[in-house]
Amino acid sequence: METINVHTREHAQLIDITREIQELLSKSNMTTGILNVFVPHTTAGITINESADPSVAYDILAVLDRLVPWREPYYQHREGNTASHVKASLVGSSVRVIVEDGGMKLGTWQGIFLCEFDGPRTRKVHVAFQSN
Ligand code: ZN
Repeated sequence: METINVHTREHAQLIDITREIQELLSKSNMTTGILNVFVPHTTAGITINESADPSVAYDILAVLDRLVPWREPYYQHREGNTASHVKASLVGSSVRVIVEDGGMKLGTWQGIFLCEFDGPRTRKVHVAFQSN
């Protein structure tokens, strides 16, 4: 297993980490198998979506903000960041990607994004390799 540290700059931010993961994959010398990417945090997540047009990441954050308001009278979590926890659960904490010929079988427009929902912070991303 390998770990990447990602320094986020905003309170909410989608950060494309595809290149960093591909670098780890290349160093691993695994040519065929499955790559597991896992975020060990309760207010950050991971997702795969369009990396070509940065406005998609912006729109995803905007939609999540509308779906999950920062303040609601019924929230009970005393830390005050319930919305960050809910968003992290909505996007999930792991993704799996098929690896073939030493490369990830991502679609043309796909990238892997760390989803920061309560930054700025330093986040860990664990990457585990399962070769066939
Ligand atoms: Zn909390």
